[in-house]
Amino acid sequence: MDANRPAASTFFVDKEARFGARNYHPVPVVVERALDCRVWDVEGREYIDMMSAYSAVSHGHLHPRLVAALQRQLGKVAVTSRAYHGTTLGPFLEKLCAVSGFERALPMNTGAEAVETAIKCARRFGHLRRGIPDGQQRILVARGNFHGRTSTIVGFSSEPAYRAGFGPFADGFDAFDFGDMDSVRAATTAHSCAVLVEPIQGEAGVLLPPPGFFQALRAWCDEKGLLLIIDEVQAGLGRTGRLFAFEHEGVRPDALILGKALGGGLLPVSAFLADARVMDVFDPGSHGSTFGGNALAAAVALEALQVLEDEQLVERSARLGEHLRGALQAVMDESGGLVRAVRGRGLWVGVDVDPALASARALVEALAQRGVLSKETHETVIRFAPPLTITRALVDQAVAAFREVVLEQRAACAIKKGASQAMAEVAAAA
Ligand SMILES: *Cc1c(COP(=O)(O)O)cnc(C)c1O
Repeated sequence: MDANRPAASTFFVDKEARFGARNYHPVPVVVERALDCRVWDVEGREYIDMMSAYSAVSHGHLHPRLVAALQRQLGKVAVTSRAYHGTTLGPFLEKLCAVSGFERALPMNTGAEAVETAIKCARRFGHLRRGIPDGQQRILVARGNFHGRTSTIVGFSSEPAYRAGFGPFADGFDAFDFGDMDSVRAATTAHSCAVLVEPIQGEAGVLLPPPGFFQALRAWCDEKGLLLIIDEVQAGLGRTGRLFAFEHEGVRPDALILGKALGGGLLPVSAFLADARVMDVFDPGSHGSTFGGNALAAAVALEALQVLEDEQLVERSARLGEHLRGALQAVMDESGGLVRAVRGRGLWVGVDVDPALASARALVEALAQRGVLSKETHETVIRFAPPLTITRALVDQAVAAFREVVLEQRAACAIKKGASQAMAEVAAAA
């Protein structure tokens, strides 16, 4: 038992550890309830949610309109499977197409399933429309990518922790360096049918592409007949201050993958979007999902898209994101090199710390003790991605807590360094 952790938290942490698989390493906070941008743990302590479940809770926790849409639909029907039609799926797909500009949408549940859908679509497109022999289609993917956790997807990850021991992996993926066109050109073969890429690499540490990269990539795809498929499962639906992150790059992809925020923080809802010339490689029987596009999910997702518009959450993300980055940059300037970089777009920021001076995980845990939820990615990056409904006052409160944690850690380093210097001097004198 952790002496610092009260009994109630310990009870639930221990149960998860005892009966759960050990595939996560959660921050030791036991969340009991949440509302909008605030979370309360089982001891009643309050936190600001600067994580929003990796964008799944972009609308804030338990948004009243989304809860109402869910409850309305629960009074009718929840799940029928796609064996039948329903009254919510069509309107949801129509809305998805209207906001994205694509002609067709294919609903799934999790992000990884929508990525799998994209892979299947790209391969079939390569075979049927480009004449690549079936079984030889290849897809270009970026090093440092994160597209989910299925065995096919982790097979083209460059992160050892995601892959080790899970082979054999599916063939048909060629890696390029994110942001490097020479690398894209070198990885392209006569059998390449698509490029699958995130607009900003989130898990890799909120890495932005160099200016012009996506335009050059778009031109290369046009020249070679490759589909440009952008995975906006995390970046999409306002996270970056635009409805879709590809808008920052001045390009339009051939296909788009959405998830996370699409479910309004209530349900897993994802989608693969493309124009008919691409999507129509699917015919009845070629792809599906029992829960994909279920009536309940469609009702909630339709309302989630509507709420983004009505509450102007995209504009809010741009405005408050700029404020958040500015405030974190001020902390960086004060940090004596502990914070090396602050990068991001909209309400999506990665704070890069010097591993010689601090571990991202330790900072995240210290921050949680001060009532702010964030999450590290790799050893050196702390990610802030609050609900898009957050207020300026809450952003300021969260950054003030982060500043205290950083300055405290900086002081601890200075003391340690002072002590080791003093010891070295004593040793030298002796
Ligand atoms: C989270 C994520 C996925 C996977 O989504 P799941 O719902 O966890 O399967 C895919 N791509 C990106 C970019 C993501 O951030």
